[in-house]
Parts: sequence; C-alpha cells; structure tokens
Amino acid sequence: MRWPFNCNLFIINDMFKKKRYILRLDDACPTTNWKQWDMFETMCDSAGIKPLVSVIPNNQDPKLMIDPPLSTFWDKVRGWQDKGWMIALHGYDHVYVTQSGGLLPINLKSEFAGLEYDIQKQKIEQGLAIFKEQGINTCVFVAPSHSFDEVTCKVLHNHSQINIISDGMSYYPYRKYNMLWLPQQSWRLEKKWYGIWTFCYHPNTLPDDQFGYVNDFCHQYANLFVDNLEDIYNQYQHRQPSWLDQRFEKQFFEQHEPFK
Ligand SMILES: [Zn+2]
Repeated sequence: MRWPFNCNLFIINDMFKKKRYILRLDDACPTTNWKQWDMFETMCDSAGIKPLVSVIPNNQDPKLMIDPPLSTFWDKVRGWQDKGWMIALHGYDHVYVTQSGGLLPINLKSEFAGLEYDIQKQKIEQGLAIFKEQGINTCVFVAPSHSFDEVTCKVLHNHSQINIISDGMSYYPYRKYNMLWLPQQSWRLEKKWYGIWTFCYHPNTLPDDQFGYVNDFCHQYANLFVDNLEDIYNQYQHRQPSWLDQRFEKQFFEQHEPFK
C-alpha cells in the first residue's frame, strides 16, 4: 500500500500513545431530570471518574425544563467543581436561533453559528458573567447542538479564558482558530485502541436500560478516563490534524446526514 505523502512518523507516534477517555455529561441546568443526574453522579463517584459537565448558564430551552427548578443548582455545580469535575460553558440560553450547522454540521440548528460577532460576544460574556458570579471557572466551551463557527472561536479567544472546544471529529486534539479542539466523536462508551475519545451522554434522556452498560464500562475502564484538561492542553496545544484525523472527519460526515 502506498502511504499518502503527509502520512509520516507523527501518525505512528500518535498511534502508540495511550488511549484516553472523557465522559461528557450535557445540559446541566436547574430544571434538569435530577433523578437521572443523581444516578450519574453516584456512578462517577463510585468509579472515581471526573466527567466534563456542560452547564447552561441561563437555560430557556423548554425541552430541558423537566423537573421544577432546583433552588440549590449553583451549590451543586460548585460541589462538582470542588470534586474536580470539569465544568464547560454550554452556550448561554440553549435556544436555537439559526438553521446553521456551523463548522461541524451535525445538526442544522444553532445558538451561535451565523450570528454577528457582537451578538455572539454578548452571549459568551453574559454566560461567563453568570459563571463568575457563581464562582465557576472554566476553560472549555461546548456549543449547543455542536454548532459554532469561526466567529465563535474568535470571540472565545478575544474575550474569555476559554482555550478548549469540546468538539471535532479526530483521533487526537488539535489546534484550529486559536482553540484546542478536543474531539467529541461518540455518543456511546466503547473500547478504543488509540486516540482521545469523548463520549457524550445526556442524562436527561438516557433510557433506563442503558444505564447498567454505562455503569459497568465506567467501572471497568476507570483508569483510562482523563481528569485533568490542563495536561491535555499542554500536550496537544500545538498539534495539527494528521492525515488520519482528516480522514476520520471526512468519513464521519460522509456517513452522517445532518439532523434538522
Ligand atoms: Zn445541549
């Protein structure tokens, strides 16, 4: 087999790095399904896993209004932070205002992609102001529905401490638009041979019969889960996508039609 010109030793080097996993839990807000979230919290504590939790600063999405608002919501988020869980800014209000898929067209709806710089800046600043008021620190952005654009990256770079975007289709993180793209490739925990894999779960909507599998996987492979994003940032902050990463993204989008 003839290797492509740019398939070089860096790829071989990548393949022998240890595989690592990240459990991402999406859509934390005061009106979430607390019974399901409590189940995940108990499981993470028992396995010793520190998940990446995407927190919506000011949720206005009716689909995420399941339980009555928890008055101690921000105490809970601070409690997660104190336990070493990684907290991400998950947009501002989780309301979709454009039909753009942005840079990663997984879903054709967005809170950010396609909006002007000043509007995106306002959303990010308002979200971070709520985090600051509540004593929450973050260096990670999670775009609702994976939809964001180059403007979002510019705003994050120019107006926040955020330097990681939890998104992208690749085997390892890479730098693009002044952000480290920490890939989020899968929605089901699975054993992998190499790469850094973020598995995204929505505790609100996880069917009951799937929780046992998640619990077993997390306990069995607990030692492979990342619990410090600073190390990941330092290790990969200058990395460029390899030929394998580019092929991964191409194949993903060839096989997946965007959800409307
Ligand atoms: Zn979301």
